[in-house]
Amino acid sequence: MESQGKKMLESAQALIRKTAERMKLDSVMIERLIEPEFAHEFALVITMDDGKKRVFKGWRIQHNSALGPYKGGIRFHRDTVREEVQALGTLMSIKCAVAGIPYGGGKGGIVVDPKTLSKAELERLSRAFIGRIAHIIGEDVDVPAPDVNTTPEIMSWMIDEYQKIIGRKSLATITGKPVAMGGSLGRTAATGRGGLFVLMSLMAKLKKKAKGTTVAVQGFGNVGYYFAKLATEVGFKVVAISDSKTGVYDKNGIDLDRALKNKKEKGTVAYTKAISNEELLELDVDVLVPAALENMINEKNMAKIKAPVIVEMANGPLTQEAYEYLAKKGKIIVPDVLANSGGVTVSYLEWVQNKAGYYWTEKEVNDKLKVMMDRAFEAMWEKSNPSAGGEKKMPLKQAAFEVALERITSAMV
Ligand code: NAD
Repeated sequence: MESQGKKMLESAQALIRKTAERMKLDSVMIERLIEPEFAHEFALVITMDDGKKRVFKGWRIQHNSALGPYKGGIRFHRDTVREEVQALGTLMSIKCAVAGIPYGGGKGGIVVDPKTLSKAELERLSRAFIGRIAHIIGEDVDVPAPDVNTTPEIMSWMIDEYQKIIGRKSLATITGKPVAMGGSLGRTAATGRGGLFVLMSLMAKLKKKAKGTTVAVQGFGNVGYYFAKLATEVGFKVVAISDSKTGVYDKNGIDLDRALKNKKEKGTVAYTKAISNEELLELDVDVLVPAALENMINEKNMAKIKAPVIVEMANGPLTQEAYEYLAKKGKIIVPDVLANSGGVTVSYLEWVQNKAGYYWTEKEVNDKLKVMMDRAFEAMWEKSNPSAGGEKKMPLKQAAFEVALERITSAMV
């Protein structure tokens, strides 16, 4: 796992270095963009239910704060390593900058499989984590949020602990909270919804209509489910979905309610023709949406990918090798840093609401999300397909990174 984390970090840093060199940034600036501003590493000592003590390793890595407070989730995972947390924090700086929100990037993590803890132990661990980082976070300093295996409930323990430590309210210090504790309406569906807005902007540029466009979605969790549901509502034909066990193909369009019901009752989404995850990725569809995990499209299956458009809804679903191979083949690849930034954008809207003490309806949140996603897409598209003469076209991922680094470096002195 350590080597996977290292690989992730090397790849994030290589992308930044390559972009910065292309932009002819000087070597000191490149180093500042690569190194985190702060890396906090600590041991958390928890008393378990049986009275014995256990030590858990944790990090909060604050990568860049040029555009605003560090922003990024906290993951609880048994395979988390420092390099992974740093890589994710680095990519958060890029994501927030591309999304056009006034945040820098950071990430936190604890090495733990939360399924092995009781609820009381999980709460103690979450509170202990805040005990360690309370002096380095804050609504204008660093704003954590949920990530893998951390939930709104965990955020509610964390914000409660934080407010106890500082002795006053500061709801804006942690986002992804339950609505009753200052969370935003619209957050649950935000990442899928944001991705759909991005796809719709792309379709408009390609002069294509949603109606009749076929889509395959890998992953049926928070991101995949809402993406598939909302895409169907606006007329896309989602012909395949899958979860970790299996997939389902329906040429008439997936009946998502039936797939959900089937999963609940029979443990599989396949209410009709079952397909494997590999088959889903290789389908002859117009749009492929990997929304499960990282590295799902790699050197083993890249030559079999047929879809001309790929929307990276998961973080890093294409390996660097697969990305380069498919980009060279002329595939349009919408990069994760923009495609899945709807979640952090609504986190920003939650923060704004908490700071203002004024709360929007779900429609207001969704409308604001659309404005922000459309604006972010336009900036990337314009960089990729410059309307002004003389400038060269570039792939969307390269364009997104250039937009981000331009914004970050112009705020650095
Ligand atoms: P989730 O845990 O809710 O869902 C993940 C889905 O992927 C599940 O349906 C699971 O069955 C499926 N899956 C797991 N292993 C698989 C495999 N080997 N093959 C196919 N499917 C598999 O997670 P999520 O919140 O939907 O996140 C999905 C991805 O999107 C992750 O990469 C995450 O980092 C990224 N992301 C999520 C958010 C968010 O707001 N939730 C925001 C940005 C990025």
